[in-house]
Amino acid sequence: METYKTLLKQKGLKATGQRALMLKTIEEDGHIDIDALKEKMQAVSPNISLNTIYLNLEQLSNEEVISKVSLNNQKSVYEITKHTHAHLVCKICGSIEDEPVDLNLLTAMKEGAIASSFKPSFVAVNIYGICSRCENNQTNKEKK
Ligand SMILES: [Zn+2]
Ligand SMILES: [Zn+2]
Repeated sequence: METYKTLLKQKGLKATGQRALMLKTIEEDGHIDIDALKEKMQAVSPNISLNTIYLNLEQLSNEEVISKVSLNNQKSVYEITKHTHAHLVCKICGSIEDEPVDLNLLTAMKEGAIASSFKPSFVAVNIYGICSRCENNQTNKEKK
């Protein structure tokens, strides 16, 4: 928990126990939606209200400690801010995996935006498809 508190302080945020718990919960899950986050945090600390969770999510997002990932056809999830990466989103089970992105590619995309007189702040890439587990399940079914 101390590492999370240090991280919060580095960002100039008050290192409350609730915020540290939020970061820990998000990191353990990888990518978590608000309902699962609420459930897991309340399991540890039953007095946390949904309002407090929303408020902290907003403040931590504003300081870019965490990032919101918006997805098609499913709830947005939150993750600890890392280097820019793509998300592999399974259309069947909804699993989300991180995929490293070539930095040159990102720079090229941003430069393209700038060339169109646009001021880019961040790039989000989601790749939708079928994960290996679901793919295997399908092949197994076909064999039967
Ligand atoms: Zn899947
Ligand atoms: Zn991610």
